[in-house]
Amino acid sequence: MHTFDLQHQLQADVPLHLVRLHLRVLGAFEHLLERISTRARTSQGERTLDEFFQRATYRLQLWVDGILESGDDNVHGILQGCELPPLDVALALHSLILSPHRYFEDSQLRFPQLNRLKEFPLYMVVAALYADNSGYVDRECQPAAERWKQITGLEFEPISSMESDATRVVRCPSCDEAARVPWTGAEGFAGPDFAHACTECEMPTTHDTLRAGKLFKALHKAKETPGFCLPNTALLIRGELDVEMRCSAITNEVWSCFESSDGQLIPLHDVATMAAAGGHSLMAYVAETLSKPDSAIRPESIPALLRAFEHSFPFTQDVVDARHFIQDIYHRGWSKLGTGQPSTGELDEAYACYGEFLHLVTTAARREPAWKEDLIWHTHQLMPERYRANVIGYTGLFLDHLPRGEDINAYRKPCANMGSSFADVRVSRSQIRRSAKPRCSVNLGGA
Ligand SMILES: [Zn+2]
Repeated sequence: MHTFDLQHQLQADVPLHLVRLHLRVLGAFEHLLERISTRARTSQGERTLDEFFQRATYRLQLWVDGILESGDDNVHGILQGCELPPLDVALALHSLILSPHRYFEDSQLRFPQLNRLKEFPLYMVVAALYADNSGYVDRECQPAAERWKQITGLEFEPISSMESDATRVVRCPSCDEAARVPWTGAEGFAGPDFAHACTECEMPTTHDTLRAGKLFKALHKAKETPGFCLPNTALLIRGELDVEMRCSAITNEVWSCFESSDGQLIPLHDVATMAAAGGHSLMAYVAETLSKPDSAIRPESIPALLRAFEHSFPFTQDVVDARHFIQDIYHRGWSKLGTGQPSTGELDEAYACYGEFLHLVTTAARREPAWKEDLIWHTHQLMPERYRANVIGYTGLFLDHLPRGEDINAYRKPCANMGSSFADVRVSRSQIRRSAKPRCSVNLGGA
């Protein structure tokens, strides 16, 4: 499509009023992050923000499983007032959706209840906000707060939750026994040295063993349940899912790397013992085993395969790291309240840039998007079904977006390096955050 025609098509497909609602929501997210940062400055800095994002991801998981899942199917696509996500959950959901490939796979294969959301609930969130973006008006969110408290037992307001909800539930990576563990403290979940001993099987629960447990669970499910696959393996470049052929070949190959003589998977605690004997973390051992010479898995695809297991949350995308865009747009002034908001002319220019970006994306001249066109691109992605259909229509490809802070080169690093980064993934991630040049990245390929 000609760039000029594409620009006009985009203004129809991504309506301007949604871009303005999106800016308002970004302003509210930034306000919340500012309040967390202010608290963080007086205590433990970066670690408090990290804890906030981990809590938000956990709360998103509870919202998806407890609130979305139990929703009435008759109101397909429309959230009820009592289903309004807490503001931190809305932030985490926003990050989850801004990863179109992984979100599509998760919504098709792992969390079908996400399909109730035809789009991110921009109207609903904005309608509940105070005029100064400082959070939800109590009266507006009361039905949702009551339902949330009843289902999760947690505070609805994110900062109150950080202050008074001291624990979370984790499941043993080996025997699935549920345990309640503290968020903070030397061995709390939010820290890199999280440790808990399972009272049933004595398997240590750490970030490392939880990640390996997530992989082994996914492997079991992919092997035994038709229609399931390992994360990041099902999507083809033109946006179709191929679970039957492609994924089962990958699953069988990964399975055979950890297969015992009876054809079953080696129990996780035995793998942990082998890893410890060689002085490896469990995930480093997994990465090394997958890259052994007799493995048929292509070495360059192993980092992408393991990407979903760099964190133990059940989603494929890592929600914890994705916040640069919110701060970027805010510090440029566009999501601040008052005079800094963009004029219609400025937004027209942003549409034109986004059109040009899409026009170039399948050519050798393709480029990274600048922040203005990023705003339109991201607003488009907040309507996942429409985005997928539209970009395939414009470009022939299901164009993916890798959130800022994600080191795209990590996909290409040889596996030998992955081992060490898995050993201390939290630390290496905050280093990435500090050092990465803020930008969004384009991924043309399938998994
Ligand atoms: Zn256990």
